[in-house]
Amino acid sequence: MPSHRLKKITIDDLELIGYSVAAEENVIAIPQLDVCFDIGKAPDQVVSINHVLITHGHIDHSAGLAYYLSHRKFLGIKPGTILAPANTVGPIRQIIDAWGQLDGSRIPAEIIPVKPGDEFQIKPNLYARVFPTKHCNGSVGYTIIEKRKKLRKEYTKLTGPQIVELKKQGVEIDYQIEIPVVSYLGDTEYVDYSQLDYIANSKILITECTFYEDEHRGRSDLGKHIHVDELNGLLKAMNNQHMIITHATSRTPVKFIKQALKEKLDADIFEKTIFLMDPAKRAD
Ligand SMILES: [Zn+2]
Repeated sequence: MPSHRLKKITIDDLELIGYSVAAEENVIAIPQLDVCFDIGKAPDQVVSINHVLITHGHIDHSAGLAYYLSHRKFLGIKPGTILAPANTVGPIRQIIDAWGQLDGSRIPAEIIPVKPGDEFQIKPNLYARVFPTKHCNGSVGYTIIEKRKKLRKEYTKLTGPQIVELKKQGVEIDYQIEIPVVSYLGDTEYVDYSQLDYIANSKILITECTFYEDEHRGRSDLGKHIHVDELNGLLKAMNNQHMIITHATSRTPVKFIKQALKEKLDADIFEKTIFLMDPAKRAD
């Protein structure tokens, strides 16, 4: 029996499984890419995923780190890799070590400090690129990018042996292309993220939208979050095929959220959006 009931969204060959409620828990895993964005309270279903990408240290995003690591130790699998903003790594280590002391045995951990602009290899052709967000000190987001080699146009008509010959001579016959698969903004206030083309062109965008009521308009600035009134402008500038909306509060009824999204977003943008916590969506 899994510890949580998670939402599941299937987009072509990718599954997004997660849970996202502001101040409560935020975690979204994509098993096919072997990444988990933030860890929430470490639901059982994400423990086998080898890369956890932490956006910032707020407890609703990072509380489960020690449990994730300790559960993996219990299952006899390697610690997994945690990417986290450089300024959060010290406190994360302290928490993990403290739990190790309480538990009576050290919890192994591999924590990689990251900063905007860094890239980390997830699989041979898959990378996590780090970008800055505007939420709290050191907060970041991540884009998962597939890198492929493509044969240069002038060589496409050559035969296999001819290509092998050119390679032997040291001729650069191919070039690299980047396919941004998914971008996760974590928590952020409104920023024109389309300035970063790998975010604008990601197949999937996962964005927060915390506030929906008119009277909360001022509050989104205070908490460094996005208000639904800012969402259309953010999404209109993007080319993403699928836009996943996360991080609403439990105080706003889902019906109200869905109505607000429908009213405030252009019809073509609304068509592309999925509200992660929509009760109509399948839960696992
Ligand atoms: Zn936060």
